[in-house]
Amino acid sequence: MEKILNYIDGELRAPLSKNYLENYNPAEGKVYSYLPDSDADDVHEATLAAQSAFRSWSSLPAEKRSAYLQKIADLINRDLDQLALAESRDQGKPVKLAKAMDIPRAAANMSFYASAAIHFASEAHITDTQAINYTVRNPIGAAGCISPWNLPLYLFTWKIAPALAAGCTVVAKPSELTPMTAYLFSKLCMEAGLPKGVLNIVHGLGSKVGQAISEHVGITVISFTGGTVTGKKIAATAAPMFKKLSLELGGKNPNIIFADCDFEQAISTSIHSSFANQGEICLCGSRIFVERSLYKKYVDELVKRTKALIVGDPFDEATNLGAMVSEAHMNKVLSYIALAKQEGGKILAGGNQVKLTGRCAGGYFLEPTIIVGLDPQCRTNQEEIFGPVVTIMPFDTEEEVIMYANSTSYGLSATLWTENLKRAHRVSAQIKSGIIWVNCWLFRDLRTPFGGMKQSGVGREGGWEAMRFFTEAKNVCIKL
Ligand code: NDP
Repeated sequence: MEKILNYIDGELRAPLSKNYLENYNPAEGKVYSYLPDSDADDVHEATLAAQSAFRSWSSLPAEKRSAYLQKIADLINRDLDQLALAESRDQGKPVKLAKAMDIPRAAANMSFYASAAIHFASEAHITDTQAINYTVRNPIGAAGCISPWNLPLYLFTWKIAPALAAGCTVVAKPSELTPMTAYLFSKLCMEAGLPKGVLNIVHGLGSKVGQAISEHVGITVISFTGGTVTGKKIAATAAPMFKKLSLELGGKNPNIIFADCDFEQAISTSIHSSFANQGEICLCGSRIFVERSLYKKYVDELVKRTKALIVGDPFDEATNLGAMVSEAHMNKVLSYIALAKQEGGKILAGGNQVKLTGRCAGGYFLEPTIIVGLDPQCRTNQEEIFGPVVTIMPFDTEEEVIMYANSTSYGLSATLWTENLKRAHRVSAQIKSGIIWVNCWLFRDLRTPFGGMKQSGVGREGGWEAMRFFTEAKNVCIKL
């Protein structure tokens, strides 16, 4: 069975402990490879490599850094099918989704920051006629990048690309649940000739490898995407060390449907925003609020279309929902469905585990689930479930729905459906979320800042925000 290796100082290495963890294919419920059970010693080696590569990488002309990133983007595109298959096998998602979204977006991350590396600029300010101030933005040093399992290569490259483009070197950790694409990515970096030590990938458990990255004094900046609880732990370790932190955390996103919406667009996009990637996208709209006059029509149609979705083998082109990432996560989502029933919710679609036959007989599959009849304040409507489960609630006024939308501790994203432009602006301005989509969902422009408010995180990724994050600014003031 294949053994995944760490990528440290330009070479593939076994973990120092020689211990490995099992890597499951969740669609089969079977181990299909092993990954390093690395620890603080491996992180230390990776950090030394990153520190020693920093001087030459950070002083390399931006055009050369850019060329490496673009070469890696080209290799991702060349291996798109293989990477999509690996991502589907690790995470359970339909392979067609990995081909259409995850892997192309991973390549786009590398390409975008290849270009950003050469266009990055800093500011100058002339203070009346008395002084000129100019700002120098220098890469900080060795950066720690820790990413989750739901969009493995997409989010991994979303962090690594701006760090490398800005001139930082990196010690990265993918989720232990989905290590394969990061491993294949390390081979692409070797093929691209990326200088040794510039990127180091250490596989293993969050409690060991992730914790060691947070603690290591040689890592001065950390970009993390994952759950809010983990984000708090990282902040508790890293903040007293004055590390620069970007935390992209969980969400409980409202999807707000006004009666004047384009009904067909709202319904067809709601199917995706509710159940794409088995609902395992931080930006999924898990709380749907529908204006009362449209409520019945919307619920009937969403239930009808949800029941028509195919839960199946992720390799099958017809499949809409693949496997949940792990048995533990499937059970967590099932426990929330049980909680919803205790809280008085009525299940209108789904609610159960799905047992497939053949190759996927042992896999972790769930029905897409719609629940109505719940109070916006109940736990089901306040806590992140991170699965194919949505609740639908009616509302009467704009003020009421804004209050519901803002009533959780999260503030990652929101979606609005209305043909009334003034209302779109008015409501967007009052919702506390890092991104508001109006009449669309998951639309991405890499130049825009991305990140959450409240417990959905601090810091912004995307565009220049991410480049700036990996640099420290120094101002030089010259008296005229
Ligand atoms: P986790 O927080 O469990 O894990 C994220 C990463 O952190 C993993 O690599 C994990 O390793 C690692 N980790 C775990 N414990 C520690 C620790 N003590 N110190 C450092 N690192 C640690 O999140 P999930 O992987 O379960 O991802 C799902 C979550 O991510 C959801 O809450 C989702 O909303 C959020 N998310 C947020 C996004 C955003 O942009 N805001 C985007 C996508 C997801 P391991 O897996 O090995 O335990």
